[in-house]
Amino acid sequence: MNYTALEEEQMLGYIAYALLYALFVGYIVNVARGRGGKPWLWGVTAVASGLILMPFVPFGLLIGNALVFLWVRFGLGRGGQQPGMRWSCPECRFLNERYAVVCEACNKPWKQP
Ligand SMILES: [Zn+2]
Repeated sequence: MNYTALEEEQMLGYIAYALLYALFVGYIVNVARGRGGKPWLWGVTAVASGLILMPFVPFGLLIGNALVFLWVRFGLGRGGQQPGMRWSCPECRFLNERYAVVCEACNKPWKQP
């Protein structure tokens, strides 16, 4: 089957969009884990909210992700002390991001040093 240049360009666009989307979902899953949430639950929520928005909003998939991301990053795990900087886990030495309130490698909660 032969594709025209335009079709090829469109396909590349879709692939780039899908990759961006997959990366975003992966990032949300990571942040959710760091904030002490259930990673799979937030991954599913991100995908579901994107699919719900998609028919109504341009770039609904990404916007759904963005909304869930904002909640996971700033809503989840709020209250209680925040690390405020990158920290290395005393248990497994994993270097965690500043948003992480539990170790992203071994799930041990961050403690004030
Ligand atoms: Zn750890």
